[in-house]
Amino acid sequence: MATLSGIQLRRRWLWLYGLIGLLVTFITALKVLEVVATTQPSQSIGRGTEYLLDSQHSLEIATIHQDSTLAWQTEQSNQLSFGMRDATLWLKVQLPKLDSRDQWLLEVDYALLDELEVWFFDGDKLLSDYVTGDILPFRSRNVSAEKFLFPVPYSTSPLTLIIRSKTTGALKLPLNLWNTDQYLVHAGEHSLLMGAFFGLLAAMALSNFFFFVTTRYANFLVYCGYVLFLSLTLLTLHGIGYKYFWPNNIWLQGHSVVLFANATMLFAVFFTRELLQVKSYSPLMDKGLLLCGGLYLTGFVLSLMLPYWLMIKIFLVVLMGSVVFICSLALWLSSKGIAIAKLYALAWFTLLLSGLIASLENLDFIDLSISSHYLLMIGALIESILLALVLAITYNEQREATFIAQGRALEQEIRSREHQKKAQEELEYNVQERTLELEIALRELSEKNEELEERNTQDALTGIRNRRYFDKKYIAELRRSRREQTALSVAMLDIDHFKSVNDKYGHLIGDECIRAVARLIQDHLRRPADDVCRYGGEEFALLLPNTDIEGAVLLLEQIRQAVAATPIQTPAGPIQLTISGGIASSVVAQDADEMQLLSLADQALYKAKQAGRNQICHHTQESSHV
Ligand code: GH3
Ligand code: MG
Ligand code: MG
Repeated sequence: MATLSGIQLRRRWLWLYGLIGLLVTFITALKVLEVVATTQPSQSIGRGTEYLLDSQHSLEIATIHQDSTLAWQTEQSNQLSFGMRDATLWLKVQLPKLDSRDQWLLEVDYALLDELEVWFFDGDKLLSDYVTGDILPFRSRNVSAEKFLFPVPYSTSPLTLIIRSKTTGALKLPLNLWNTDQYLVHAGEHSLLMGAFFGLLAAMALSNFFFFVTTRYANFLVYCGYVLFLSLTLLTLHGIGYKYFWPNNIWLQGHSVVLFANATMLFAVFFTRELLQVKSYSPLMDKGLLLCGGLYLTGFVLSLMLPYWLMIKIFLVVLMGSVVFICSLALWLSSKGIAIAKLYALAWFTLLLSGLIASLENLDFIDLSISSHYLLMIGALIESILLALVLAITYNEQREATFIAQGRALEQEIRSREHQKKAQEELEYNVQERTLELEIALRELSEKNEELEERNTQDALTGIRNRRYFDKKYIAELRRSRREQTALSVAMLDIDHFKSVNDKYGHLIGDECIRAVARLIQDHLRRPADDVCRYGGEEFALLLPNTDIEGAVLLLEQIRQAVAATPIQTPAGPIQLTISGGIASSVVAQDADEMQLLSLADQALYKAKQAGRNQICHHTQESSHV
């Protein structure tokens, strides 16, 4: 919201700048008008002039000058303006008596005449005559001025002026008589005015072109094109184009007005279309504008081929229609509350109003103290300034809108990134948590597995390793012995006459005895690699890696003696037990039968039992193939 109110504030400032600019233009224009109004030609020739329109184009100067039967008409208004006619215009003016101390000039204040001939007669005597007009190169002119200028010959008596003119455009001959001193002052002021006016338009075209180059905002270029062609049109209307830009190009001078005017309006239409965003409000109106644009483009192209008189008529009709259309469009958009459309409508109305006032003056309805040309120029200038203001406001608004949109997009981007980051962090945290949980579960599982494994290999009664463990360990140790070529001793121990213990004291006491013997055997094992397992009922198997037969016999003998010397303390009183044992020992050969060593130990045990029990027998090396 803060940014929006910022824009409104800036927009208000922009309006203010525009209004200040307009005010300055108005004040300057008023000052200019004041200056121009005070230097009016000493005599303007208008009302009372005799004219003749020769639609046959057959009359000659001799006939005109001498034939008194010709039907001359008298001009009632102050304007020698006859509209578009396919006729040769003849004018006959009785010049007043001029002060002979001054040099006098006759000015035809309209630059677009194709053929213009001027004769100065003193009675029947021709003093001087001039042939000029746009169908001759500019350089052929007697006086090098934008408008047609003729020196009035010196005479003591009043002169008769006869003018012949023929043109494809408007037949208009505003005549002024200047004395040279006044004309010099007027020419200076006029040049300054023209220079200032066209300089301003050129500066606006150039600055907008640079705006376009730097911002790439196409409307600046369209506006630049509009101002450029508007300037060219007005330059042509004032005869400046022919004098300075294409003095030898008669064809261009004959077509420039309609070419440039069509181009101006083409740019104006597209400027309107883009600036007011007509398409978004009404596609139908937009199509109307496109049609106008198409007509002007066609007009421009056809102007290159078809005669001027036809094309200017078509142009004026299209112009009238399209200006009314554009104005109503701008008004309609203003009524919809589009602020710039109001300013836009004002801009076009300024031009229309100045055009209207100029037309009224041309039609002699009103009498202005200044030339209608100046009025049109001021109208065009104010319009151009207003349009530039509209352009600046629109550009600014679009830029601000882009900024806001970018800001919003950025904010959203940041928010979504934060969101993403948070989600990512959450995910990572969850994954870590799950991984940790999984690791713990795995560890627990492996502990459980180990425990299970341990339990699987443990004998429930005695707590020492069981038969299952022995079977695995026996194979492993056998291979180690074979691999490392070290001696492995295996012993089998069996409690003597245990059945009778059970019978006498019961199984529970028997169990107690088995546990005690197991503990006793275990207590005698010193090396970490030595292992004792409960092999079955009251039988134990010992694995003694890296132990030869002597070592094994020694250890087993110690165990046997310990059992024999230690009565087992039971609830039923001490019980004296003995054990018998069989040992087999060998460095296991490559091709040996894996079960043979165990079987030999078993056989030795059998021998010990046979030999009377409570003794250790071993399988000697000599009788072994292990
Ligand atoms: P010998 O001197 O020939 O070994 O005589 P013995 O009575 O010990 O005979 P043998 O080894 O064949 O008998 C084993 C007896 O051990 C059979 C059974 O009553 C007893 N026994 C086997 N397992 C257990 C056990 O887990 N607990 C108890 N209390 N007695 C068992
Ligand atoms: Mg037994
Ligand atoms: Mg036994």
